[in-house]
Amino acid sequence: MMKTNSEPILSASILSADFACLGEQISEAEAAGIDWIHVDVMDGQFVPNISMGPFIVETCRRITTLPLDVHLMIEHPDQLIDAFAEAGASRISVQIENTPHVYRTLQHIRACGCQPGIVLNPGTPAHRIESVLNLVDLVLVMTVNPGYSGQQFIPDVLPKITQVKTMLEVAHSNAVIEVDGGITAETLPLAFHAGAQVFVTATAVFKHSEGIAAGIRALRKAASL
Ligand code: ZN
Repeated sequence: MMKTNSEPILSASILSADFACLGEQISEAEAAGIDWIHVDVMDGQFVPNISMGPFIVETCRRITTLPLDVHLMIEHPDQLIDAFAEAGASRISVQIENTPHVYRTLQHIRACGCQPGIVLNPGTPAHRIESVLNLVDLVLVMTVNPGYSGQQFIPDVLPKITQVKTMLEVAHSNAVIEVDGGITAETLPLAFHAGAQVFVTATAVFKHSEGIAAGIRALRKAASL
């Protein structure tokens, strides 16, 4: 089913999935109507944790035809863009904090056939991305400090979401605003009303006490309130 421009999009981060049965978990999320699969890539340098690389993206690509939303939390992201694109990424987002040649990086992502995104950590002001608003399809506003799933949503970030929304309107950009970190049925409406359209959820989907489908249903319900 096609979504209208303003309908909330749910992107399930496999960071909280059970890798012993990753295929089943992704298929279950897909059957329950998840929109995108989010892959959190961490290198133990830019963030303290180490997670997954292009190999997992390639695995996901064989499991599902859903968009693969790849979020690079790594040093020197330029060096791995080709590998993630070839593995089947649909979107590739890089952090503004460690991407010194950001024009080149974003153009490289698009030249690889992927949709580029730019990411802001909670402590990074919105104006840092002002010059690239027309180069991206997505702005990801982190609602936790990246590194681990299961963290608490930082409500201080809400005004920045609204600020980015205004900046995108002024720039006549069609980029969507995504939020990532601590998104639950309770926090999703806060980010939605602040201007976010895409919601990355890890624990609230893959670790829901009543299962993946129930987690997605609860988030959809929260998004419709
Ligand atoms: Zn992420």
